[in-house]
Amino acid sequence: MWSIVLKLGDAGSWCDIKILILPRLYAIIQKNKRGVFMNIFLRFPEGRAKALTLSYDDGVKQDERFIGILDKHGLKGTFNINSAYAGCEGRLSVEKMNSLLEAGGHELAVHGATHPFLEQLPLALAIDDVLTDRKKLEEETGKIIRGMAYPYGTFSDDLASGLRAIGIAYSRTVISTGNFRLPTDWLKLAATCHHNDKRLPELTQHFINDSPNRAPWLFYLWGHSYEFDNNNNWNVIEDFAEKIGGKEDIWYATNIEIYDYITAYNRLQFSASGSRVHNPSAIKIWFEKNGKAVSVNPGETVKI
Ligand SMILES: [Zn+2]
Repeated sequence: MWSIVLKLGDAGSWCDIKILILPRLYAIIQKNKRGVFMNIFLRFPEGRAKALTLSYDDGVKQDERFIGILDKHGLKGTFNINSAYAGCEGRLSVEKMNSLLEAGGHELAVHGATHPFLEQLPLALAIDDVLTDRKKLEEETGKIIRGMAYPYGTFSDDLASGLRAIGIAYSRTVISTGNFRLPTDWLKLAATCHHNDKRLPELTQHFINDSPNRAPWLFYLWGHSYEFDNNNNWNVIEDFAEKIGGKEDIWYATNIEIYDYITAYNRLQFSASGSRVHNPSAIKIWFEKNGKAVSVNPGETVKI
């Protein structure tokens, strides 16, 4: 980033400006013309710089009220289901959950069939538990399910590799970053914060009031909807949804929509000079080049 400070008090003559400053300005302009200072940043659909997603697990009966709050304010989330317990006491059936999620455009994802400490199990048993969950949920919903949250948030490197091998695209941990950076390791996916995090009000205000002019922001909130009953604090999510919902500059999306979008963005093929780009994916992709919004349709090559 260039900045030029004119201290007129000590060097303030026109001569100084002409000799010292103008050549430097000229050099900056020439370098920019040659494209030395190229900046390219991912933007979400319609050129938005901010995205919000939520992740709530276990498929408990309180999810129905929770989903109602999200739907009222246009928020999108991902819900992780243990197929072995679905329909048991305190849990919604897969059919009920699926119809609630479909109505609001939310994502249904796996969470291990039996909610074990997966990283403690022999790897084959851990993978079997997740694969069983995936097959059962796919069979009952007719969907292709690629999202996951780790039961108890626990994981290992071997487990993450095994999950990748069985088609799991991402899996959420219970790590809170307290920031809005985009994930890089999708099988060790961290959240911004849990809904009981003391930083939630401050993070929410910051996310609403400010906007990035470089890398985009992702606000990722996680929790369990039964916690609102346990703590008698449904107001936390109602206030959050009311404040953050309905904003033109925020993309409300499920975990897998964000994963698929960022993955497709990362597949963009740029020419060596950066003057052309090809989008080989099936998703329209947006980015910003030197402050200018650019979009590339699926299969399209454009000059930028
Ligand atoms: Zn859980």
